[in-house]
Amino acid sequence: MSKPPGSLNLVRKLVLASIIVGLLPMILGFSLTYVSQRGAIQKTMGSAFQVLAHETGAKLSLLVNDLLDKAIELARSDALVRAAGEADRKYQGLGPEAVRERVERAAAHWKSSKDSERMDRPAVDMLEEFRQRNPAQYHLLVLTDREGAVVAASPRRAATRYLYRDEIEWEAAFDEGRGKLFIGDTTWDPELSAYTLNVAIPVRRNGEIFGVLILNHTVDRLFKSVTDVHIGHSDHTMLAASDGSLLFCPIFQIKNHTLSKGFSQAIFRENDGWTTTQVDVHYPGREAINGFAPVNFKIEDFSPKSLGGQRWYIFTSQNPEETYAPLRSLLHWTAFSAGIGSVILIVLAVLVVRTIVRPITLLRTQARDIIQGIQSLPMERRTTATPYVLPKIDIHTGDEIEDLAGTFYEMTGVLERTRRFLVETTHRLEEMAIRDELTGLYNRRHVLEELKTEFSRSVRFSLPLSCMEIDLDFFKDVNDRYGHQVGDRILRQISELFQKGFREPDILARIGGEEFLVILPQTDVQGALAKAERLREQVTQHVFTIDYGRTIRLTISIGVAVYPDERIQNIDHLVKIADDALYQSKRDGRNRVSRG
Ligand code: GH3
Ligand code: MG
Ligand code: MG
Repeated sequence: MSKPPGSLNLVRKLVLASIIVGLLPMILGFSLTYVSQRGAIQKTMGSAFQVLAHETGAKLSLLVNDLLDKAIELARSDALVRAAGEADRKYQGLGPEAVRERVERAAAHWKSSKDSERMDRPAVDMLEEFRQRNPAQYHLLVLTDREGAVVAASPRRAATRYLYRDEIEWEAAFDEGRGKLFIGDTTWDPELSAYTLNVAIPVRRNGEIFGVLILNHTVDRLFKSVTDVHIGHSDHTMLAASDGSLLFCPIFQIKNHTLSKGFSQAIFRENDGWTTTQVDVHYPGREAINGFAPVNFKIEDFSPKSLGGQRWYIFTSQNPEETYAPLRSLLHWTAFSAGIGSVILIVLAVLVVRTIVRPITLLRTQARDIIQGIQSLPMERRTTATPYVLPKIDIHTGDEIEDLAGTFYEMTGVLERTRRFLVETTHRLEEMAIRDELTGLYNRRHVLEELKTEFSRSVRFSLPLSCMEIDLDFFKDVNDRYGHQVGDRILRQISELFQKGFREPDILARIGGEEFLVILPQTDVQGALAKAERLREQVTQHVFTIDYGRTIRLTISIGVAVYPDERIQNIDHLVKIADDALYQSKRDGRNRVSRG
């Protein structure tokens, strides 16, 4: 037989189903965890960053406004206003050309001699005192007159330029006498290795601008003090302009990166909040969460050129690696537990498959044994062969499979019982075909078949063969006197008597109403006549019962034929000679034996 069909398919189907059942919830759980936890992390971190930015923004606003308040107050001080006013007096009566020439000459002299003696003493002292009151905050303080010429500076040596007219801060703060407070852009000073910021304040008296006070502010300490707050390890707070350029960044000192366009637009759109960007400022290619909040200036008289026409925003960000670390570890553990789960599931599936498929294979093998057993027999032997009882299948799974095995065993039992019934029926039918119904002796058809066989054997092996025909004498009278039923009973009794008189290999048959034929193989004439005589004698001696004590006696006439005989060529000749001999006995007075 080829490989058992079906079993592999079942295994494959069950294993496949288990894998699908195991993997599907894993993938689903994984995706759901990722989506939901990612959203939750973004929301939590976003809010935290927003709060951080908001608080930092508020703190920076407070500090910057305080600084500006102090600077404005300084610009209003008498010493400065007076110094600026006195300087102006030097130009009185001069035309613009002459003033310019004078200022430039003074500037050239200033540069070559680095002479600070010509500064206004009280104003210099004032600036000096202010700078010392705010240590490490001001790199340079300069007071100019309305032509841009230096009147006082602190530190004195640092004021290397006499003419400030060309500078944007000076221009904005003076603006042909209509100037306003100006705050410059933060700039990276390579000499100082720090960010600096220029503030220029008009110096007024009675509404008229006499000069400009310029403060070169070192912002590093200021910004650092506000941006040094952390939530995690890698988060940092930065200062950006609304066009997206970074003004201050504590971890990357060089101002060489800007925010993405999308992120800048988000800042423009909303005042403060948090957002996610596809690209992080410091870690390109990674999605980042950022919080942002504006820095507010409360000065009213503010030059529109201030801050490069931008607004300032504080924004916070974190290394995305750290931000998403909890999610990654969650996914890690989800994947790990799902992996373990699927391994357990697959092992269970294999066990289930084995417990299901093994008994099924066993059942199939048994069914095949039965089929093979039956098929190996020729068709005519299938109803007569010795019954084969199958052993009970040894399955104790305690489930439907055990049930199925039990049913299968019962089915084979039922089949076997049915087969046995068929065997018995066939046997009975065969017997019926060769036996006489009334006496149970062989019938005429069968005895003639047997005679044919015996005759050909005798011919082949030159063996003698005898045959006797028996007829009951005056049996018609028995019927007439006692009835047909009594006749039948007598026929059964005499048959029993005959059966006792003959043994194997003799073959006894009832060939007519009360006529019998006996084949006597390998029996010669003396043997046959002796047997016939003994039988006739036995019948004569026998008392036949009619009913309740009534008895009769009977006699028989016998004709004997014996092969070899030159008249006998076939069984018809043999039977005919026996028949003739029987009639001879009748004619000779009955109750006798004649040889034909
Ligand atoms: P004989 O042979 O001596 O010449 O006289 P007989 O009366 O026996 O005559 P025959 O052999 O011609 O008659 C046979 C009779 O046997 C006829 C019938 O009444 C009876 N007989 C035949 N078959 C049966 C049978 O099956 N049952 C019964 N009860 N009687 C039968
Ligand atoms: Mg007769
Ligand atoms: Mg008769």
